[in-house]
Amino acid sequence: MNIILFGPPGVGKGTQGTRLSEDYGFLPIAMGDLLRSEVKEGSDLGLKAKTYMDVGALVPDAVVIGMIESRIVADDAAKGFVLDGFPRNVVQAEALVDMLAKHAVLIDRVVFMQANKAVLVERLSGRLICSACGFGFHRHHSPPEKEGCCDRCGGTLYQRDDDCEDVIESRLKVYVTQTAPLLDYYSGSDLFRSVDAEGDLDDIYSRLQQALGEIN
Ligand code: AMP
Repeated sequence: MNIILFGPPGVGKGTQGTRLSEDYGFLPIAMGDLLRSEVKEGSDLGLKAKTYMDVGALVPDAVVIGMIESRIVADDAAKGFVLDGFPRNVVQAEALVDMLAKHAVLIDRVVFMQANKAVLVERLSGRLICSACGFGFHRHHSPPEKEGCCDRCGGTLYQRDDDCEDVIESRLKVYVTQTAPLLDYYSGSDLFRSVDAEGDLDDIYSRLQQALGEIN
């Protein structure tokens, strides 16, 4: 099953997408993670992307579109993939259509996850991420057993640079102007589903599974 998860920053695409991928053997393809690993490596692409990411702006379309194609046709995507954070505007959505057609790959569900702004800000500002395995925690809602230390692998937890107040505000604005129009783009499709992404994480996951219907 090939799934697109989209919605505002902090809505839980990464958290729920990771869980789906682990439970069903899908390949998680998170555009933000791909970009952050380029930044960490210090590649030219990473250095360029960082200037946009630091201020909460979108990295240019040509850069992100060029990064996604090899992932969706990778061998480990054969059982399915979960695309999180791509597409993030209509230009990217159109490029994805062409790419999928070129490789005869079909999307099975496009899921829009929604939550109100106060919930998003609260989630983003309390988010902690493991620097080794990428697993996410929250300072108040799902704190690690030992402060600063990942329960899963013992890695060090950090707060993302763009999870600070002013950049969160910019990212939410960018979402409204550039990504939210994807709702109009996808909502007429039979593949489209919308999921309430507020409340308990297990409940959100159940709603997501329901929205996906029969998962093979
Ligand atoms: P995320 O991890 O999804 O919150 O993404 C972090 C940052 O990476 C965003 O604020 C953007 O700067 C950049 N980014 C992620 N996905 C995309 C995309 N599809 N197009 C452009 N920039 C992106």
